[in-house]
Amino acid sequence: DAPLKFGEHCSAFINSDIRNAIQQGASREDITAGIVTSIVSNYLNRVVGNRTIGRNIVLQGGVAKNKAVPLAFAMLLDKNILVPPDPELMGCFGVGLLARQKFEEGILTKQAYDIDAILATDIVYEKEFPCKACDNFCPIRVLAVNGHKYMFGGRCNKYANLRKKKAFDEASVADYIEKRNDILFRECAPDPAALTRKKDVIVGIPRCFSIYTLWPFYSWFFHTLGVETLLSREIPPEGTARVESSYCFPAEIAHGAVQDIYNRKVDYIFLPHFRDMDSYEKTAPANFCPITQSLPYYIQKAFPEIPEEKYLTPVVSFMYGLEKAAEPFVAMAAELGFGEGEAKNAFAVAHEKQMECFAKFAELGRQALEEARRAKRPVIAILGRPYNSFTTDANMGIPRKYTSRGYSVIPFDILPFADQVIYPNMYWYYGQQDMKAGTLLKNEDNIYITYISNFSCAPDSFMLHYLKWIMGVKPFLILELDSHTADAGVDTRIEAFLDIIEGYRSKIDDIREERYDNGLRFINRPGEEIHILNSATGEKIPIKQNPRVKLLLSNMGRLSAELVGATIRGLGINAQTMPVPDVYTLQMARNHASGKECLPSHLVLGSALKYFSSDRYRKDEIYILFVPTTTGPCRTG
Ligand code: SF4
Ligand code: SF4
Repeated sequence: DAPLKFGEHCSAFINSDIRNAIQQGASREDITAGIVTSIVSNYLNRVVGNRTIGRNIVLQGGVAKNKAVPLAFAMLLDKNILVPPDPELMGCFGVGLLARQKFEEGILTKQAYDIDAILATDIVYEKEFPCKACDNFCPIRVLAVNGHKYMFGGRCNKYANLRKKKAFDEASVADYIEKRNDILFRECAPDPAALTRKKDVIVGIPRCFSIYTLWPFYSWFFHTLGVETLLSREIPPEGTARVESSYCFPAEIAHGAVQDIYNRKVDYIFLPHFRDMDSYEKTAPANFCPITQSLPYYIQKAFPEIPEEKYLTPVVSFMYGLEKAAEPFVAMAAELGFGEGEAKNAFAVAHEKQMECFAKFAELGRQALEEARRAKRPVIAILGRPYNSFTTDANMGIPRKYTSRGYSVIPFDILPFADQVIYPNMYWYYGQQDMKAGTLLKNEDNIYITYISNFSCAPDSFMLHYLKWIMGVKPFLILELDSHTADAGVDTRIEAFLDIIEGYRSKIDDIREERYDNGLRFINRPGEEIHILNSATGEKIPIKQNPRVKLLLSNMGRLSAELVGATIRGLGINAQTMPVPDVYTLQMARNHASGKECLPSHLVLGSALKYFSSDRYRKDEIYILFVPTTTGPCRTG
């Protein structure tokens, strides 16, 4: 009767929601119906997205054998769903039809297979060796199948290509992520052999977060001072086991990197508080999420045996200009025994080297874009964050999975996107880069996006909605990773995505985009009375003293909301406070949200939806939803 709304969580998170529901006395039927509708919503929102859904829907695959699934599709889409007699065999029928078609076209030749011989295949495990073709160092198993040796395994397609004798022109495939990392960690970093040591100490630097953007800056700062640095190399499991809360995967990796540095017996551990960068936007700062920023604080709690004075934790902030940005580095250098002059000089050199690095990124990005436009095959742009997308510690070899299938990859942060116009108030630095890259790539016919995200990533719970909106009907892939993600699942998603790209390119003229827009815009400009502009007719609709326009306030506390409502009414605006949210408010929001957003945003959305579906809603009124905004770094803004 009343399926519970679990949102679009992965099954691990639904599990805890189910426990909560059981504790609160929900019925078995409502919980089961909730699980099924959650699966269906997940598919509709993540796979179908903004694409048009036709009138006739056929549901195939083993999942259709669960009668509740087609019923949930019918309920959510209000359309008839047709389930064929043997839905789980439709893929086999499809392969059979394809084979017949290819045979008729002369692409396949007739061959006979003996099922008994296949079943009697003799498979012997011979040995395992590490592949050294890239720094993933995957274990590869050698199996003898009926006496013939074959190699299996690996994160990429290298050995599958060998087995299937698939060849492509490797020279035409470019890995711009490798080139980017080469600029960052080698070309724009100092040569350790050229160090003139001025202090007999070693500063250990865990390879995580800002290192993947600011390595030239950090490395040149210490090098110019005359201090040796040591970058972590491994992620020992005893380090990741120290996480004290359910952090995202990059934060887990940071714990491992700190453990590695600690094991190497350094004198200091460098853990910057990475606060902000120069913004691409005039009206918004460019800061980092609370998890990135609070690295030095939770690490110190997780490693209580490391004395406090061993940590170097400068605040990295460029938003108030270079002079201000230098202050924490001057203070840190003083801890190491250097004077202000030496520190300021090191800071200036470091900053210059970082700018050189960004200039090289930009040059590489222009070249990558031009080559991608000319490439015969589609090119994949990897979006996300440098610390989760451009390191094999976190990206599960995804770039390599593409290049080994013959597709070039481009990292988002080198693309020439600075002038792209994005939604206002995007106050995360990587958010600005991702959204600008998305806006640029939406109109690039030969480039398709793969967005690497992480479970429980706060910014992505909103940014992925923006990206979906930006991309419209153009397909893109979101891969959400954590330390338990399996290679096979990622491979399947990538294969499916490459098929979707081919399908999209062949049917691009038939695909339509459906978007709702009533054309009404809230205008709040200096020197003008606030009003609503009908962008279709140009009509200016006043807000003050206009009973037709209603301002709705979501209720985060009865007294405060009513106080704000009364104040706004005092200004001549028809403001109304919505009721205090209840459990149904949340359920309504989860029907439309991904389930990953924070609770307050669900309360705002749910309150509005509840209001619009109540008898207080009137078609002849215009509603404005009051949503306070901030400049981050959490999701409130
Ligand atoms: S990702 Fe591919 S090339 Fe790299 S080590 Fe693994 S199997 Fe070898
Ligand atoms: S942006 Fe997302 S993935 Fe990165 S640290 Fe913050 S929560 Fe984690």
